[in-house]
Amino acid sequence: MTTGRPRLGVMGGTFDPVHHGHLVAASEVAARLGLDEVVFVPTGRPSLKEHAVVTEPEHRYLMTVIATAANPRFTVSRVDIDRPGTTYTVDTLADLRAERPEADLYFITGADAIAKIAAWKDVDRLWDMAQFVAVTRPGHRLSLDDVPPGAVTEVEVPALSISSTDCRRRAAAGEPVWYLVPDGVVQYIAKHGLYRGQDD
Ligand code: ATP
Ligand code: MG
Repeated sequence: MTTGRPRLGVMGGTFDPVHHGHLVAASEVAARLGLDEVVFVPTGRPSLKEHAVVTEPEHRYLMTVIATAANPRFTVSRVDIDRPGTTYTVDTLADLRAERPEADLYFITGADAIAKIAAWKDVDRLWDMAQFVAVTRPGHRLSLDDVPPGAVTEVEVPALSISSTDCRRRAAAGEPVWYLVPDGVVQYIAKHGLYRGQDD
């Protein structure tokens, strides 16, 4: 499996807000698969998002920059927030491949998202564009239909029940988000009054 090509992890997400679950997942996958870099890609307008009000892309982008700044292997890309319209993974991967033709891409996604992969746009093209990595909690095996053999690698991540939904709910209710998200993100949320009065 050593091609000599740089191995680039791609962590797509709404990151509304980015939390320690995302960061641990990226770090764990990077260590297990020997990735050289993980690029976090905040979505523009997500296609399969259940919550109605998604925070402005620029806030989500900046929180992701703050959260990843200390890690020399973590970077953040604007490809999705700078592309007008709904974000589809096929476009994310096409843009990153054009920017980084020398790299092999590893698209990292949670088990919840990968289970819905059949509904993704151009799903048949995706398999050639990147290796897919599904992060699961220890003890939870993934059951995937309609996926070519070997297309998805499973990586167990220490149980993390942190979700952005819960962080938003807490911020709206004035409950603490300390230690669920990086300190700088706690301060960014407070400074800009994000999620205040929101009932998701
Ligand atoms: P929301 O609660 O709004 O759905 P979220 O916490 O799932 O938000 P997203 O931005 O939707 O965050 O997630 C981006 C990616 O990170 C997805 O692939 C998702 O499955 C994965 N992910 C989210 N939370 C965790 C977690 N605690 N551990 C590992 N992966 C996670
Ligand atoms: Mg989610």
